[in-house]
Amino acid sequence: MNNYFKTYDKKDCNGCGMCALICPKGAITMMEDSEGFFYPVIDKKKCIHCNLCEKRCPNNPSKPNTNQKTYISYCKDDNVKANSASGGMFYPIAKYVIEKKGIVFGVCYDDNLVAHHEYVTNLEDLKKFQGSKYVRSDLRDSYVKVEKFLKQDKYVLFTGTPCQCQGLRAFIKKEYDKLITCEIICHANPSPKVFYLYKKNLEIKKNKRVKNIAFRSKENGWHNQTPIIEYEDYTKEKENSYFNAFVNEMLNRPSCYDCRFCSSKRYSDFSIGDLWGIDKIDSSIKDDDTGISLLNVNTEKGFEIFEKIKDELFIKETNTEEVFSYNHHCNVQPHKNRDDFFKGISDGTINESNIIKYMNKYVKSPLYKKAINKCKRIAKKIINK
Ligand SMILES: Cc1cc2nc3c(=O)[nH]c(=O)nc-3n(C[C@H](O)[C@H](O)[C@H](O)COP(=O)(O)OP(=O)(O)OC[C@H]3O[C@@H](n4cnc5c(N)ncnc54)[C@H](O)[C@@H]3O)c2cc1C
Ligand code: SF4
Ligand code: SF4
Ligand code: SF4
Repeated sequence: MNNYFKTYDKKDCNGCGMCALICPKGAITMMEDSEGFFYPVIDKKKCIHCNLCEKRCPNNPSKPNTNQKTYISYCKDDNVKANSASGGMFYPIAKYVIEKKGIVFGVCYDDNLVAHHEYVTNLEDLKKFQGSKYVRSDLRDSYVKVEKFLKQDKYVLFTGTPCQCQGLRAFIKKEYDKLITCEIICHANPSPKVFYLYKKNLEIKKNKRVKNIAFRSKENGWHNQTPIIEYEDYTKEKENSYFNAFVNEMLNRPSCYDCRFCSSKRYSDFSIGDLWGIDKIDSSIKDDDTGISLLNVNTEKGFEIFEKIKDELFIKETNTEEVFSYNHHCNVQPHKNRDDFFKGISDGTINESNIIKYMNKYVKSPLYKKAINKCKRIAKKIINK
């Protein structure tokens, strides 16, 4: 498969930043492009052509785990489930690690709503990782910190996208019994620059600061995924333009359209996602709209932990291929307006004062499509009269 250091094709780099950390001469810097994604740039004066960056790039993984099992699952604790994006599978795995006096890495927002990786050491702080932040997370120096904790013989759980987990394993290289990786099922990841401009546009429109964007609030149920925007004055609004553009594949990193981690074959100890299609997969399980997870246990280490936490979960083994056929199992295709949209982002035509308008112009919302279809039906009836 293609390697970024040979092709310089953006599809071949998922942005994990591992190469910049391992370069023996510090010749690689991760630089933001005009779309808001980061790529390695080599300082030719410092490079000694050792090829390490090319050899160890983790974007073309070779051996997936083969003894995996897939479960329909959810956490029995209703509060945990309510605060989680799906059936709340992250929390019990993380709790197991915290109870072992370990460290948990996950994704949270900072005060400016920049999604980034951080670590916590107590149960209370796990809350900030719960819920999906639909934007590429900034890893900062988390790989280096994970290694430091492992060398101190601590348990470490690292959660993130499959490519971020693979990047970590490639960085660490050595097998550590106490390193546990848990990847989300991930169909794509949007540009942080677009997310920032979206947040600013909301603030300009309302003339107040956005405090939180809850993508997977369950206020209206698990299936209704309209994001809730929370402002500094505690008012809330439902706003769908960014999420709609995301699920229609307009905002993604180029590597997500050629993702090397997207099949039912997995690489981390656990994979967690939404169990879509439950009515077709197993109609004996009641979908009460509070969230059902897809849990894949992929390794021996994963199974050992699974045995210790399974009393806290509802679980039923199911068919891997069937479950993945209702979820992300092959590459997503870019929305037909992706290039025009990002051209506008790059040259500044699309900016913080108008990005919502452009997202709605380029990707029609489901409500808009519904209204158009209704008008067509009415027109047809009138013509047929
Ligand atoms: C960009 C993105 C795309 C996704 N695509 C799919 C999909 O196609 N199909 C599917 O079934 N599920 C997808 N998911 C996963 C799903 O939304 C839930 O995150 C997952 O089911 C876990 O939910 P939970 O209830 O078990 O845990 P929660 O308690 O909600 O745990 C959230 C976990 O997600 C991690 N996380 C949150 N935001 C990010 C982020 N930006 N990057 C990396 N990790 C993050 C946290 O660190 C934590 O480990 C996606 C998530 C993201 C962030
Ligand atoms: S995928 Fe990671 S290691 Fe490979 S080129 Fe991109 S940033 Fe570097
Ligand atoms: S070839 Fe070696 S020295 Fe040059 S950028 Fe890659 S890792 Fe660094
Ligand atoms: S779709 Fe693939 S390349 Fe994109 S963030 Fe997810 S795992 Fe990484």
